Amino acid sequence: MRRKIVAGNWKMHGSRAANTPLIEAIVATVTSERVGCVICPPHVYLHDAARALHGGAVALGAQDLCAEAVGAFTGEVSGAMLKDVGCSYTLVGHSERRSLFGESSALVARKFAAALGAGLIPILCVGEQLSEREAGRTEGIVAAQLEAVTQLSGVQALAGALIAYEPVWAIGTGRTATPEQAQEVHAFIRQRIAVEDAKIAAGLRILYGGSVKAGNAQDIFAMPDVDGGLIGGASLKADEFLAIVAAA
Ligand code: PEP
Repeated sequence: MRRKIVAGNWKMHGSRAANTPLIEAIVATVTSERVGCVICPPHVYLHDAARALHGGAVALGAQDLCAEAVGAFTGEVSGAMLKDVGCSYTLVGHSERRSLFGESSALVARKFAAALGAGLIPILCVGEQLSEREAGRTEGIVAAQLEAVTQLSGVQALAGALIAYEPVWAIGTGRTATPEQAQEVHAFIRQRIAVEDAKIAAGLRILYGGSVKAGNAQDIFAMPDVDGGLIGGASLKADEFLAIVAAA
């Protein structure tokens, strides 16, 4: 049985004043690692967050990292730096990075490799735009996003990673994929990986992301290939986020 994981992507939200009670509420409630719980605040708050998490059951993740390990890359943050301040996870290839910041699948694959190289667990985000779904291209898009990573790092690299299937049309829109739509793509991802390595596919955690709320989490998480969630907006409200963790 795969342990479920719920990760909160705070995006560019928060402040020191707002983060403190949010983290305190999460730490006070999530005391067991039966369900994995990860929070991903903006980079500047990671150090504070690491201290507030006290090395307890809640893990720390970043939202992005540089593909390079060190050097003249003004404004960038390396995987080693994230590890140094207490992160154990990092998102890579979130759809907002791909669409708003022009990150190609090739760059995402390099970031994935950089995360692994720094000892972080990458959460590789994949997913199709609405127009791509409507054109029947969902599987092709997701497969290409996965292949960029497996071609660079090998399928074995997925043993140390998580995948988040996030249909772009469901992110921040309130329009969630139905549990069946999520299951269909999650099963596709697992089958696709199984062609290369059945054992890695069977153990791979595939999170669903896209307008998950306390009210719909249980039905989505009940799907056999859904191993938890990547939560955006709802991760900023302690009650809502904790109800989603409880649903997992
Ligand atoms: C996300 O940012 O990864 C996300 C899934 O956002 P939301 O839950 O707000 O749709």
